[in-house]
Amino acid sequence: MNNTRKNTAPSTTPRGGNIDRRQVKKKKESTLDPRLFVKKAMPSGQAGFRTEKSFEDLPLNARLLANIQKKGYETLTTIQEQSILPLLDGRDMMAISKTGSGKTAAFLIPIIEHALKDPRNYTALVVTPTRELALQIEEEFKSLTAGLQLYSATFIGGTNINSDYKQLERKLQVVVGTPGRLLDLSDRKLLKLNQVNTLVLDEFDRMLDMGFVNDVKKLVNLIGKRDQTLLFSATLEPNQKQLISTLLHNPIEVKVENAGGTNENIEQQTIRVPEGADKFDILAGLVKSPEMEKVILFTETKRLADRLAKKLNQVGIAAGQIHGDKSQNFRNRMIEEFKKGDIRVLVATDVAARGIDVADVSHVINYQLPMTMDAYIHRIGRTGRAGKVGHAITFVN
Ligand code: AMP
Repeated sequence: MNNTRKNTAPSTTPRGGNIDRRQVKKKKESTLDPRLFVKKAMPSGQAGFRTEKSFEDLPLNARLLANIQKKGYETLTTIQEQSILPLLDGRDMMAISKTGSGKTAAFLIPIIEHALKDPRNYTALVVTPTRELALQIEEEFKSLTAGLQLYSATFIGGTNINSDYKQLERKLQVVVGTPGRLLDLSDRKLLKLNQVNTLVLDEFDRMLDMGFVNDVKKLVNLIGKRDQTLLFSATLEPNQKQLISTLLHNPIEVKVENAGGTNENIEQQTIRVPEGADKFDILAGLVKSPEMEKVILFTETKRLADRLAKKLNQVGIAAGQIHGDKSQNFRNRMIEEFKKGDIRVLVATDVAARGIDVADVSHVINYQLPMTMDAYIHRIGRTGRAGKVGHAITFVN
């Protein structure tokens, strides 16, 4: 083992002053113990994810029910079983659950029912920390409301605001968006936040992590009195409780098991790169195996993401990349191609990958160790969805 860690610049490197250039240049290295990334899957299978309860047993509009069935959803997931009825009754909700539990349909189905009862006067606002998550929620809404004449739009940063104007010309029953763009549209008096009936704050902990706390407070103030508020979070930190209690009124509390922890359905292993070996060759050899059907490959830097995607294509493995320097259109296209299977490997950085909900991701590969355990858990959570077994492979030196 080498001793580079000793030289790693402290994270609190002072600005200016006499900084040793060699230290500044040195890459930050993860100090996580690689043993943390080895774990056998304990798949609960569909049984752990789904309940026995059928959607037909719920008091739902027949066409909505048909759309649910067309999506292949037969029985409710745990969170859906616990939340749909109280939400239909108009209750507030505090849910500790992560992506992968079926939470999107859990909040959209009651929203759609409310909207169908009074489409001209009902608006739900779904606020998410990331653009990708926002787009995925709208996609789920569209498939659940096919033929129902309900309308939605997604307003996110990084897109041309002029195209938002057009969408706001019609009555929308569901608006999905990231905090900055929603506030921007409200400031321009285009989005009437005071008409919102149902507010959904999705991935609330991540929203706070990403520094949106003041934006969220502003949004909530502008919305003012509303019928219903739903809050979803993967974790519940004690310091968030005070803020949460101001947002919710007598909420039902739902907690889906394992939330915040590492998914039991994921087989986790490490691959040691021997000194002097070419890491890329090992990766390429690995990814060529036919069982690697859909792979998300994580890197720490955007530059490396670009380079790996290019090199994988050069050795005949269809790959694409998403990261913060790519336009929203580019990212959407990549996710679409990945979903369809036109590209087999999606190389991603952490921020860009949050909220990607592509079914059937067979493998997550960490080309470098993530910096934090939280990042690791979010990364590997892209696989092992919907009760399936996923695989997480982490390269260690
Ligand atoms: P979510 O937690 O909303 O990101 O959902 C995770 C995955 O589960 C998505 O791919 C959904 O399409 C899928 N899903 C949601 N509800 C059900 C259900 N009742 N039965 C089967 N799959 C579902």
